[in-house]
Amino acid sequence: MTSKYFMPTRVVAGRDCIVQNSDLFRPLGKKALIVTGAHSAKNNGSEKDVKTALDSVGISYLVFDKVMSNPSVACAYEGAGIARSNDVDFIIAIGGGSPMDAGKAIALLAAQEIEEEDLFSGKYDSKVLPMAFVPTTAGTGAEVTQYSILTNDRKQTKTSISFDLLFPSIAFLDAKYMEHLSIETTINTAVDALSHAVEGMMSVRASVISNALAAESIRMIMCCVPEILDWRSVKNAVLDANTREQLLQASFLAGTVIAQTGTTAVHAMGYSLTYFKDVDHGRANGLLLGEFMRFTAKQQPELIGRIIEIMNLQDVDQFINVMDILLGEKETISPEDIRYYSSLAIQTRNIGNCVVTPVQEDLQKIYEASFL
Ligand code: NAP
Ligand code: FE
Repeated sequence: MTSKYFMPTRVVAGRDCIVQNSDLFRPLGKKALIVTGAHSAKNNGSEKDVKTALDSVGISYLVFDKVMSNPSVACAYEGAGIARSNDVDFIIAIGGGSPMDAGKAIALLAAQEIEEEDLFSGKYDSKVLPMAFVPTTAGTGAEVTQYSILTNDRKQTKTSISFDLLFPSIAFLDAKYMEHLSIETTINTAVDALSHAVEGMMSVRASVISNALAAESIRMIMCCVPEILDWRSVKNAVLDANTREQLLQASFLAGTVIAQTGTTAVHAMGYSLTYFKDVDHGRANGLLLGEFMRFTAKQQPELIGRIIEIMNLQDVDQFINVMDILLGEKETISPEDIRYYSSLAIQTRNIGNCVVTPVQEDLQKIYEASFL
């Protein structure tokens, strides 16, 4: 199989990197739409830094701050309507994966007419507004992927738009915005990033480059686990700034991995937990990842052995134990739910990415082992 590596995003990292690199916004246009969630960007200083940088280079802007978690198709169309009616030249998304995913869909829909029924068709004109992204969680890596994942009510799941022009032009990585990120979101997003890196290694599209990036990401995240657990045990403390930095870099690396490899059955199965049970995205992956590794190990023991070694663990059981400690008590999922979720997950494109291809019954067993 031929392998490909494509990652056209300019990545600028470090404390105060937005204000110090305001010139980078100039080539994107004269008017920006800032796409973000309701609160966090205003509280963590990221929106203020972006506005300061834009003011300093004479770029005007308006703010669309209505992006909810797991953004809907309607939210993307609403944002695109605002972008069009205000003639904005480019999009700046600030936040976790949700504003970044919405930002990409807005950049696409503002540049071309796409009917709702064709939104996930993959057939688009080569026109997208330029984008600059500021991740404020360390998890999705959406600042360096070509995916926009939206809640797709027509299919009762989350569906990904995958289009090479959706890679942002610039990503600014500054971990200072995460100083007050809650323990729960810190863990869930770190687990999402870990899942990206591990799934990348379990993908048929894995390559020498993606595996090198994935291995480093896995190592970095696993090294942060003791720090995170210590932090959780001490009330009112903040997580050490170096750990925050490490998690952000690891999440970015894992994003570059899935940009090449896609995600596997783990994400496909997790989407139902999010859609029907409102389980956080990263948490959903973490609850399923261990059992999917065990399933894959039956035919690919060396691959899973290598991943476990990179994690500095003994076996899959020990990994599941680490996830249990991080994620706590599991949600209740009934056997009927499991049957239905398996029937949805098996239809997704992700299944074709798995090095060991599961059938629907395998997915059912993985859910059962994870929850019952
Ligand atoms: P999120 O839904 O973007 O944000 C979760 C919560 O964290 C929100 O309440 C948000 O508040 C808050 N928050 C964000 N940054 C914060 C900060 N620095 N300090 C305090 N609170 C903060 O969660 P996420 O886990 O980052 O993203 C999950 C989404 O990404 C899912 O929809 C998933 O499908 C998608 N995803 C996309 C890709 C991709 O490649 N495109 C990959 C993986 C996952 P506000 O709402 O006020 O901002
Ligand atoms: Fe994810």
